[in-house]
Amino acid sequence: MNKKLAEWIAGEGYTPYGENMFYGVKEGYQVFGSAADSLLLSVSAPIGGKEGLLSNALAELKASRKIMNYSVTARGIRATIGTTFSFGIVFGAKKLAVIHEILQKFSECLVPKDCCPYCGNALKQEGGEGGAVLSRPGKEIFLCHEQCMENEKAESERQRAEYANRPGNYARGFLGALIGTAAGCLVWGAVYMFGYYASIIAVAIAFLASFLWEKFGGKNDKVKIVAISVLTVAGIVVTQFALYLIMTFQEMEEAGVSGNVIAMFLELMSTNAEFSRAIWIDTGMAVGFGLIGLLAAVISMVKKQKQMFSV
Ligand SMILES: [Zn+2]
Repeated sequence: MNKKLAEWIAGEGYTPYGENMFYGVKEGYQVFGSAADSLLLSVSAPIGGKEGLLSNALAELKASRKIMNYSVTARGIRATIGTTFSFGIVFGAKKLAVIHEILQKFSECLVPKDCCPYCGNALKQEGGEGGAVLSRPGKEIFLCHEQCMENEKAESERQRAEYANRPGNYARGFLGALIGTAAGCLVWGAVYMFGYYASIIAVAIAFLASFLWEKFGGKNDKVKIVAISVLTVAGIVVTQFALYLIMTFQEMEEAGVSGNVIAMFLELMSTNAEFSRAIWIDTGMAVGFGLIGLLAAVISMVKKQKQMFSV
């Protein structure tokens, strides 16, 4: 635990938890914080139809108070506040005053206090009637009714099962990914023809394929990973060789040589060591960047799936 953070937590009356985390009640609201390079802050209370109002209020704060992003759900808000910890060394307690401004916004929006974030009813002592438990949904900690938490878990589990059982539209997903790959490859090829080796575009191809697979109705599952991997790598290799054929053709035109472009290319590949080496290095690099893109796309997809069903 960061020493300055520990002092601040004690001073504010919060309960320290784990590595640089804290929770407690402030101004009647349940606050949870997790500090790293930035501070993840959550305030848990039933929002009850005031999501829009609260979003607007937070949008006002966002620009002036280093709130990097926030989300509002039915049972509270989650906000990431920047530069509280710079590299985990400097602790800016003053900057944490933003917590009180956020609590102020809650009050302004008339969000109920001192109650279960799920149902809005009073929290009783643990073990008593309607006993409260400390929940740990995702990374946040707050008090709620055990039954309410169980209900959310069950609902989340139900959604997860429903998603898993829903037949994915693989044909449509594949079509989307194919369009994404083709579009990415076309842009990449065009940029290459203008004389730039823009490997970043090879990274983007996987993202485009992944994005359009889902947009077209494909599910985020293992089939998708296989499909976008094959499409991305195949797209990159095909584009790369199409580019070489075009360039070979151009060279032949300039030199006034006639004949079969593919035959000429293959002959160069087999007779000119420098030429073939350059091509294998180029292609290897392009595929390498494509694989980096794939890895990033798959990680972001898995993260998204987890968030969708996190309780
Ligand atoms: Zn409840």
